[in-house]
Amino acid sequence: AVEVRGLHKRYGAQTVLGGVDLTVRTGEVVALLGPSGSGKSTLLRCINRLEGWDEGSIRVGGQLLGTDEAGHALSPRATAQMRASVGVGMVFQQFNLFGHLSARENIAGPLRWVQGLSRLDADRRAQQLLERVGLAHRADALPRHLSGGQQQRVAIARAVAPGPSVLLLDEPTSALDPELVSEVLEVIQRLAVEEGLAMIISTHQLRFAGDVADRVVFLAGGSIVEEGPADQVLNTPRHPLTARFLSKMN
Ligand code: ATP
Ligand code: MG
Repeated sequence: AVEVRGLHKRYGAQTVLGGVDLTVRTGEVVALLGPSGSGKSTLLRCINRLEGWDEGSIRVGGQLLGTDEAGHALSPRATAQMRASVGVGMVFQQFNLFGHLSARENIAGPLRWVQGLSRLDADRRAQQLLERVGLAHRADALPRHLSGGQQQRVAIARAVAPGPSVLLLDEPTSALDPELVSEVLEVIQRLAVEEGLAMIISTHQLRFAGDVADRVVFLAGGSIVEEGPADQVLNTPRHPLTARFLSKMN
């Protein structure tokens, strides 16, 4: 589970997150919606500790992230170790694969370098994950020889490989041609069920949110203005800001 409590973040005079409270349970998929600039990426980056924050706390699997129990900041090295040990994986809009490495090595490499697996174990795990995302036959291909949807499936496999308890996806289908969205969606849905991950997915694609998410959280101006079951928020929004946003999207 992820527990975000009273999270505040400012850039200079601008408040980007104004007191966010969010709990995502194991096995739950939450879609994060909101206008551009509402703070979706910033929230995900805080949870992955790519960004610091000004007030509040984040727990992953019950462990405080980025601070010790007394609330003191940890060193970057301790933070990296903590991120690995509590298990937060992240998938980005632009895939961020290593361009000079094959699909298999994009997954197996980090398993050796970061997780300390042997070459044999890392390759085995990578091959198994490529099978699960439907790309076993493309294991030796370089990223530039894969379609956008295939590259994103490799990126998702890589994020899941170390066995995180939380997976964060920042607009994972926004860079894809429309006809490639469904293959990525399918992989995300399957992994959510099979891996029992807590997932938070930011997206501008309402259909995607409706299909994949148990719950929708609507962020505006750095605050959660509405959240609830996907059907309810998408079809009968209660907050005027949500209603206006949704009507513009359709
Ligand atoms: P989008 O839908 O366009 O991806 P978003 O909801 O992900 O938007 P964020 O990227 O989290 O929004 O940005 C929230 C606010 O924080 C924006 O006003 C943005 O300009 C500001 N911001 C983000 N990163 C920085 C930074 N490094 N320095 C200053 N301001 C920043
Ligand atoms: Mg963003």
